[in-house]
Amino acid sequence: MKLFGNHIKANKNNKDMVNEIDKEPILEKAVMPPSEPVDNSGEKYTCKSCGAETPLTEIKRMMYVCPNCGKHDKISARRRIMSVADPGTFRKIKNNIPFRNPLDYPDYSEKIAGLKSKTGLDEGVLSGVCEIEGYKTVVAVMASEFLMGSMGIAVGEMITSAFEIAEKMDLPIIIFTASGGARMQEGILSLMQMAKTSAAAKRFSENGGLYISVLTHPTTGGVSASFATLADVTLAEPGALIGFAGPRVIEQTIGQKLPEGFQRAEYLEEHGFVDGIVQRTEMRDTLAQLLRLHEKRRKSWQR
Ligand SMILES: [Zn+2]
Repeated sequence: MKLFGNHIKANKNNKDMVNEIDKEPILEKAVMPPSEPVDNSGEKYTCKSCGAETPLTEIKRMMYVCPNCGKHDKISARRRIMSVADPGTFRKIKNNIPFRNPLDYPDYSEKIAGLKSKTGLDEGVLSGVCEIEGYKTVVAVMASEFLMGSMGIAVGEMITSAFEIAEKMDLPIIIFTASGGARMQEGILSLMQMAKTSAAAKRFSENGGLYISVLTHPTTGGVSASFATLADVTLAEPGALIGFAGPRVIEQTIGQKLPEGFQRAEYLEEHGFVDGIVQRTEMRDTLAQLLRLHEKRRKSWQR
């Protein structure tokens, strides 16, 4: 069975990849609703920022961006993929990462099992291959609904394997980050994922791959200090908190008051840390445009 269309052409390694995929599929059809079911309950969504009420159907159509104040609320990893991928094109990367509890952290195993069944996710990342306006790409989304998208061994491995699959398939990679940082239940092993994912990003970059990072609220700790900020193009959602340590900790450490808007996406864009701030409703078009430009550049190289 061929899982991929005709994108595999230029790179000589791709031929082997097709065979490899034919033998043992690395992608599987994900359980994704083709579109949002219509909600007739008359239920309303209340904005956490301005308090405005919006019908549930409307706020879902707006991808949880408040039509009154523009506040971008958190969305699940699945909904995030639905917001950018062409309908029906997403194929999930298979993950067979065994659960590990290196510190014998109390109740950790039960917590992870509960979250897996509640969210339907393998771990704190949902990754796969999809098309965005016809451009094929690897996409990985950190799931804030899974222990705040914290990075442990499994998350580090899933991000790394997404880079490796993008490289093998000669595709760009887009990573949506949302994370509270390292996963305390895994101690030092979670911190080691910073080096692992950074090395994967570096290797991917050295081979000429395009990496787009989209920082969403919040992207902090070890994720912001590793792969999230190593992309070729770094985008952010409006109002997203992006930083390493929290503002209070920094203020206490340096003994100074921090400037207004410190660690917000807009402040970081002003200071050159973020390339652009993109509204969620325009994310799909923006990503498609970047993928198109990259494709053009690649074609001109190959000529
Ligand atoms: Zn609002």
